Amino acid sequence: MSAFEKGGLWRNWVGNQSCVPLYKGAPASEAELAEMIARAHAQGLNIRCAGSGHSFTPIVATGGLLLTLAGMTGIRTIDTERQRVTVSAGTRISEVGRALKAAGLSLVNQGDIDTQAVAGALCTGTHGTGARLSNMASQIVAMRLVQPDGAILTVDERDMGMLHASRVAVGTLGVISEITLQAMPAYNLHERLWRDDFETCMERYDELAATHRHFGFFWCPVPESRHLYCLPDTAAVSSTNKTADVCEMKVMDITEAPPTEGAFERIAYSSDIYPIEYVPNFHELEYAVPAEHGKDALRDVRELMLTKHTNCIYPIEFRFTAGDPAWMSPFHQQDSVTLSVSGGPGIDYWDYLRDVDAILRRYNSRPHWGKMHFLDAEDVTALYPKAEDFRALRRQMDPGGVFLNDHLRALFG
Ligand SMILES: Cc1cc2nc3c(=O)[nH]c(=O)nc-3n(C[C@H](O)[C@H](O)[C@H](O)COP(=O)(O)OP(=O)(O)OC[C@H]3O[C@@H](n4cnc5c(N)ncnc54)[C@H](O)[C@@H]3O)c2cc1C
Repeated sequence: MSAFEKGGLWRNWVGNQSCVPLYKGAPASEAELAEMIARAHAQGLNIRCAGSGHSFTPIVATGGLLLTLAGMTGIRTIDTERQRVTVSAGTRISEVGRALKAAGLSLVNQGDIDTQAVAGALCTGTHGTGARLSNMASQIVAMRLVQPDGAILTVDERDMGMLHASRVAVGTLGVISEITLQAMPAYNLHERLWRDDFETCMERYDELAATHRHFGFFWCPVPESRHLYCLPDTAAVSSTNKTADVCEMKVMDITEAPPTEGAFERIAYSSDIYPIEYVPNFHELEYAVPAEHGKDALRDVRELMLTKHTNCIYPIEFRFTAGDPAWMSPFHQQDSVTLSVSGGPGIDYWDYLRDVDAILRRYNSRPHWGKMHFLDAEDVTALYPKAEDFRALRRQMDPGGVFLNDHLRALFG
């Protein structure tokens, strides 16, 4: 029988969330994970599992048993014929990318970083950008979920309702031990960066979103903004002399051309090109806005920043994500744009974030579960047509709420 380690402080990547669990557990196998969960459940302990701690919301915290799957990593199988990869849930996205490259495959899409644990990233609805590309969880074709009594539940395409419920569940339906993802044939991406002034970006927005596989931008209110997100200086390829109220633009498309490396234009294997560099200097809020309201929402938040909150200078990141059927996905049946803003650690940014929330609510926007938001249970019910079904399923699978914490109970209890 594997022992729990004594607990102690856990902190997320950026340091705005922490907890002191009574015990920590680092299983090395699914059997050990199941045994730990069953034993903790029998002792009446609350159980949460940490990924790589890259969420800004209190979705990991527990005072009971905090699990890490850092010892449950690695590629289990790659089915090149069906273009599917099965990984242990603690595997980092970067490792999946490397394995797929070697097998002549690629992930369909990725977000801005690849250091997250696969299960941690996918269960909050992590997305990249691309108007016709859905979030990463929509590529899950199977997963294994450890239940409170240690039983293993296999969820796959034989029960699509259950799969749609489980893909984005913020760890409330059990601890995921293994995930199978649909991949695709390997591809190289051609990335181009440049800077446009705001109105030029607005004029080009529809065309760029329609004609490029990936399009997104960072709106920078002042010249210093781009440094906060380590964005390169694109003056040399800029269409404007302005350095304030500008958009740092990016498009990426699949190409047959061989790899090249340039400052503002490069070609490389998919997973080598998606990640960008961030340092832990921001606390982020991000909402998925119905696509038809994207430009209006952006104009409203920009106006707020240029008039009322002029000291809030982190860029707005603006991306596109197609709708998907997962019940609690922020993109549930809703083609969306994502709009994110950030406050600096140690700065009282709450009025600003509440004002942004008030604007984005007017457009029926849904938050990223891993980024700061102000939703309560009623909001979740109003925004998610499957919310009550999800809560009923969750209560059936975990009647004692072993996998909830206060934050999650308020949303999904
Ligand atoms: C610098 C930075 C860049 C980011 N870029 C993007 C981006 O481009 N796109 C985007 O959408 N998001 C982005 N995010 C947000 C990030 O992808 C999500 O918050 C993601 O969920 C974090 O993954 P993680 O492995 O760190 O999980 P954690 O934050 O540790 O955990 C997330 C949730 O998953 C649960 N969990 C973890 N492992 C398991 C498991 N095995 N079984 C069940 N539940 C589990 C946890 O309990 C928690 O509820 C970014 C965040 C940062 C800090």
